[in-house]
Amino acid sequence: MAPRAWALTSALAGSLALLSASGCVSQGELLGPPYELVVLDRVGASGDEFELRRGRLSTVDDFDQLAAPGFRIRQAGVLTAEELHGDMVVSGSFEGDTAPTLRYVVENGVAVPRDYSTLLMFSAAYQFETVLAGLRAALTPSAQSLMDERGAVDVIVGPVMRARIKGVEASVRMDTNAFFFAPGWQFGLAQSSSLEKAPLAADSRVIAHELGHAVFQTAFAGGVSETCDAEQAAQNEQQPWFEGRIEEELVISGLNEGLADWISFAVTGGLDPITSIAVGQDPDLDQNVAERALTDDNFRWSNIVKEAADASADERCDGKYCIGTLFARSLVATYREQGNELDDAEARERFSREVVAALEGTLARMKERELPLPRPELARCELRDEVSSEQDPPVIGAFLRAFLEGTPDDTAALLCRQLEERFEEGFPAEFREECEP
Ligand SMILES: [Zn+2]
Repeated sequence: MAPRAWALTSALAGSLALLSASGCVSQGELLGPPYELVVLDRVGASGDEFELRRGRLSTVDDFDQLAAPGFRIRQAGVLTAEELHGDMVVSGSFEGDTAPTLRYVVENGVAVPRDYSTLLMFSAAYQFETVLAGLRAALTPSAQSLMDERGAVDVIVGPVMRARIKGVEASVRMDTNAFFFAPGWQFGLAQSSSLEKAPLAADSRVIAHELGHAVFQTAFAGGVSETCDAEQAAQNEQQPWFEGRIEEELVISGLNEGLADWISFAVTGGLDPITSIAVGQDPDLDQNVAERALTDDNFRWSNIVKEAADASADERCDGKYCIGTLFARSLVATYREQGNELDDAEARERFSREVVAALEGTLARMKERELPLPRPELARCELRDEVSSEQDPPVIGAFLRAFLEGTPDDTAALLCRQLEERFEEGFPAEFREECEP
């Protein structure tokens, strides 16, 4: 993290000096669309540093609102999260966001931000426009039209976060600072400090990951987000497919993270989206986060599952995100096994369309079969943090079998074996029909 933060700091220090030295020009002279503006973006061969550069907005039709058909930039606001799954807010409310207040000067037809918040909003608009255009090619036409039907996403830059769990204000540790707020079709890009950390609003890998959650919600769940009702716990316990179960299952939200990582790779070529999303002040946590690159293979199912007896057995990866990483790594490994290069954007898009097509029928195929009855805690809508060797394998198996059934045969056999290798007993043998050639 350190080199990136230094590069950012020096780039910004230089730019702020430039901005204060430049003469003040009226704001009314910007012509467009397209609009030319200064944004923060990843640079360098590895893409691990951020610098200011000139960008262009082609789809924005109202520059003062930074509004385009696909997105709308908003400022601040308060997000009250009532149920959080990592960086997905399943229920809660997002209020008090406002139209952006932009401060910039126009120099030679280019909008140059005069303060940090304007720079972030310019950068967010630029990155959303770029990522949304790339995303289009990585989706099936049906998934794309579902996304289009849902309309413009709200991108809220710098929201205030508040958690309220079961109606009580709670001091909950937020361990990510970019969010997809499913009920409102909104994204939050929080900013802890202007200079300490790579800016999320400028990070296409983070934005593509967050949009990946929107893809999962449309392609897997048909755009529907059900709510688990704790008052129905007694009935829920008797129904394998009770309303809201899918939203509560640790496995499904873990696989959702994996799909989001895949989408981030497919659209940007980046292999470590989570590194930028996680709040990484704790050196121990950083260590875990650093081991999440999609081309690594440093943990398997047996390293992430904790038996009751040895609760601290293995710290290589913790919780549902690791299930997602196993899934995303299996997809990337299959992609490479088929002879595709990591930096081949067209090949990534082609493979991604197969992934999204498989995901589109997965829930319906899962529902053709029974799931084991839910545990009482799940029926009461209580979230579990740790992966369970008892409860999770049948759900992983049901998902993966249904997903593989929707994958072209040649891909399915390769992918099945990659999944088998990483998920081990987490992908039980009775669900591995597609592994046979
Ligand atoms: Zn996520």
